[in-house]
Amino acid sequence: MFDMKYPNRLRLVADALAQSETLVLTCHVRPDGDAIGSMLGLGEALEASGKRVFYFCEDRPGQNLLFLPGTDKLEHTPPEPFPAGASLVVLDCSEAQRIGEHGERLVEQAERLIVMDHHLGQDMCRDYPKSAPDPDTRCVQYINPDIFATGAICFAVIDELGWNISPDMATNFYAAILTDTGSFVHSNTTSLAFEMAARLVEYGADPYEISDRLFERVPFRKLALLSLSLRTLSLEIEGRLAMLHITPSMLEEAGAQVQDSDDFVRYARCIDGVEVSAFIKEPEPGKVSVSMRSRSWCNVAAVAKALGGGGHFHAAGFRQPGSAAEWREQLVEILTPLFREHDAEVSHSA
Ligand code: AMP
Ligand code: MN
Ligand code: MN
Repeated sequence: MFDMKYPNRLRLVADALAQSETLVLTCHVRPDGDAIGSMLGLGEALEASGKRVFYFCEDRPGQNLLFLPGTDKLEHTPPEPFPAGASLVVLDCSEAQRIGEHGERLVEQAERLIVMDHHLGQDMCRDYPKSAPDPDTRCVQYINPDIFATGAICFAVIDELGWNISPDMATNFYAAILTDTGSFVHSNTTSLAFEMAARLVEYGADPYEISDRLFERVPFRKLALLSLSLRTLSLEIEGRLAMLHITPSMLEEAGAQVQDSDDFVRYARCIDGVEVSAFIKEPEPGKVSVSMRSRSWCNVAAVAKALGGGGHFHAAGFRQPGSAAEWREQLVEILTPLFREHDAEVSHSA
């Protein structure tokens, strides 16, 4: 068994899964490798123990995730009617709105709610469901922002249950962990990440194949879009904030899709001296989706939360109306006081 924080909560989640006959698994909109890997890996384990499983994710996964075993089972409209007595399992997010348009309705319809997540999100059980006779078991959640991937929580739960891990499940969980640790380089990478990865390789995950499929088969148009976006890369706040963006006309010029730009924030993040990096996507005129990263002291999850989004301390995002050009200015305005506050604290303590 793995050394996980909050073992009692992990046990409650494991019991709730084991007791459910029918489950609807879901994750956040615009799913990444962690969201999809968690859904498919956990779903296979549940199916293998004789349960009826539905897989609902509002958006389609990106092309690079389609090799994951079980993606053919994903539905993009919720099961209608909601299966009687089913548990809703919310993965890689802990807010109904992050599931998408149908999120709140699904949460209301579920007989039982099971949440596994690693974001600085919300307590989904707090007001679920208000009328539950036994709120302790009607809603169970394992939310641990210290853990690198939701796939790791799913793996630990299955391990706790003593269920078998197939090579396909191992592939999904390995992909989840690889995605959210940035291939074991992000600050969330712990010895547990390597311990789990080693176990998953023993169970049949192929590290070369998974990394190759996830990251090394990009379409040319992605690099065409990157070359346009890199022209917008600039430094602000004494070289400590880096920003870049894409606009609808760049997407058109490159013949690219907005998903092609998912990891562009890394080109701002990697610059020496940069504390906060931001990538502003304007997929259609007047709407932006912003990815933020920080290197050390800046809590970008708090910044994102104040703007209606969320995430982790060092990686967060939000969506807002407005253009990329407007949000470049907005971000400088919002972040400058945080840098000044930080500078004051540092000079105070020096
Ligand atoms: P991204 O920049 O899209 O890679 O997201 C970084 C982190 O922030 C991920 O953990 C996301 O789940 C989270 N995040 C991004 N956008 C939002 C949003 N609109 N609302 C809540 N969390 C978000
Ligand atoms: Mn995710
Ligand atoms: Mn995740």
